[in-house]
Amino acid sequence: MAANKIKIIYTGGTIGMVRNADGSLSLLQEPDDLLASLPELHQLADIEFEVISNIDSSDMTAAHWLRLAAHIRNADAQGDSNGYVILHGTDTLPYTASALSFLLAGLRKPVVITGSQIPLCAVRTDARTNLIDAVELATHDIPEVSVLFNSKLMRGNRVQKVSINRYHAMHSPNYPYLAELGLRVEVRRDNILRKVKSFPATGFSSAVACLQLFPGFDLELLRAYDACQAIILRGFGPGNVPQDQRLFAWIEGMIARGSVVALTSQATLGSIDLSIYGGSRRALALGVLSCHDMTIETCIVKMMLLLGSCATKAEAEELFCSSLVGELTTEI
Ligand code: ASP
Repeated sequence: MAANKIKIIYTGGTIGMVRNADGSLSLLQEPDDLLASLPELHQLADIEFEVISNIDSSDMTAAHWLRLAAHIRNADAQGDSNGYVILHGTDTLPYTASALSFLLAGLRKPVVITGSQIPLCAVRTDARTNLIDAVELATHDIPEVSVLFNSKLMRGNRVQKVSINRYHAMHSPNYPYLAELGLRVEVRRDNILRKVKSFPATGFSSAVACLQLFPGFDLELLRAYDACQAIILRGFGPGNVPQDQRLFAWIEGMIARGSVVALTSQATLGSIDLSIYGGSRRALALGVLSCHDMTIETCIVKMMLLLGSCATKAEAEELFCSSLVGELTTEI
């Protein structure tokens, strides 16, 4: 028997689906035997398999993230596993990976999330390799929440889903891989998380919105977002916005009412710099926050978490702009 004990937690997603005659995919009725076709996993570790939910990841909510994190914390308190592998649908996997990176801060165990583009039961599936690689990496000393996809291990809160139909479905635009699997397993020690900042993580606010600006956007529509506790605006390039008084007046009103306004970009590579262009400079002077080089998924999840957990808006704003668990590059 292999020495390492790895707990595999199934949540649902394509990895455990079956294809119907019309080409559509449905969730397996009984996922408990999902791993029966992969006996070789037991050569890598002593495996325990659990089903925590059986849903398409489009149905994930903040309540699922909290439940998953509590489940892992409890299991860890009993000290029965060296590492965890989570099987998850790919569609919202980056949001869950980001949420767990915050909720499991300080766990000091590998938590590797994976899924697949093709169900495990299909001949040309990518699930088999992803699962084997995820279990392999969960036995290594990589104590953070990560995502394994297509032979690459990435920091969980740096990942985005970039492809609907390629095996390379996940990418980490602004942070290098933690490991790559080829003929050998190459762990990039220098990229592994070393420092965690302390922050409260008790719940998530549901009053956070994200709005993509575009040329010709009717700025009168901004009023529909007045009740939000926070809004993340996806501007242009390094975070620029149109120089329109209606936008600035709205931002000013939001901030005066105690809401948070943060600016990010529609470009995914690189970091926000609000000091370059006129529009973003004015927004900055009004008190908007910069999302730096965080992914949009992480901006949303982190804002939900901080507004749902911090005692004051000032604390939430200060923490939003800091690196808590390696989700933001501080020296660029
Ligand atoms: N709809 C699926 C899900 O996210 C897609 C997948 O797993 O690839 O659950």
